[in-house]
Amino acid sequence: MNGAIGPIRIGISSCLLGDKVRYDGGHKHDRFLTDTLGRLVEWVPVCPEVEVGMGTPREPIQLVRRHGDIRLVGIRTETDHTDVMQGYARRRVEQLADSGLSGFILKQDSPSCGLDRVRVHRDRGPATRTGRGLFASTLTQRFPNLPIEEEGRLHNPRLREHWIERVCAYHRLQSLWTTRWRIDDLARFHAAHRFALLAHAPPSYQRLRRLIARATALSQAVLRERYERGFMAAFTVSATRSRHVTVLRLLLGRVSDGLDEPAYRELLDRIHGYRRGLAPLIVPVSLIAHYVRIFDIDDLKGQEYLDPHPVELVLRHHV
Ligand code: SF4
Repeated sequence: MNGAIGPIRIGISSCLLGDKVRYDGGHKHDRFLTDTLGRLVEWVPVCPEVEVGMGTPREPIQLVRRHGDIRLVGIRTETDHTDVMQGYARRRVEQLADSGLSGFILKQDSPSCGLDRVRVHRDRGPATRTGRGLFASTLTQRFPNLPIEEEGRLHNPRLREHWIERVCAYHRLQSLWTTRWRIDDLARFHAAHRFALLAHAPPSYQRLRRLIARATALSQAVLRERYERGFMAAFTVSATRSRHVTVLRLLLGRVSDGLDEPAYRELLDRIHGYRRGLAPLIVPVSLIAHYVRIFDIDDLKGQEYLDPHPVELVLRHHV
């Protein structure tokens, strides 16, 4: 299934790529993003403040709570940019709908781009970290299932790998939607994600299977909307080490018939090594994938769990 899909396109706050678009004429270049992730994805850069016409350098802006409303205002002049930014954001996210995005990385703490915990100032009292940037807010409303993260959280290897996994899952699903898909295709897609879904949210795997089983009663648009919502919600749940071990044991059971005693022991040892935190997940997964190929086990050959996308492959060493 991986081979059928094009490059992964990721929207990004352009200051993170090193573009000098910040209010002070500077940037927030993130080397991991450009030097590692950038080799594997295509960027779609966005700077809401420059694109809305605020220029560089410019007066810094902040979120302010006024009369129960959150406004985007200049720190010194108190110029209110809220309406113009919201109008721009609505138009820009509609353009982005045609860009084939599979994820978005936003600059943390920004009153335009920040996803969570952005400072909201008040006339009196200290600022609270309860806001969301205005562009980020429109983006999340327009694309509720799109994997969106802040660059700061991506410095944590576990959070980063989880986000990458969500991006790849979203990308595969969008690739399916671009075809003239039928219910059978969706059923095959779902089956190919069986073990990946079991590692994240086992009840979701069953729930989505039931959705597909009664799909003939639904319009294609409704089926698509419900499946995408449920599928991406499942991947939002972190895959725990114990759930991975459960999945690995299921897979061990599937390949064990072809293994002699030493090979079986070796695979079991690698699973135990992963369970005890001595080896990354990729170690037992690679060995199981090897046996699936050798024994030509048809229904396991297309499992996404055993055949990670190159982006996942490079990063899948911390879970
Ligand atoms: S945080 Fe967003 S608005 Fe601010 S400079 Fe970066 S891309 Fe532009």
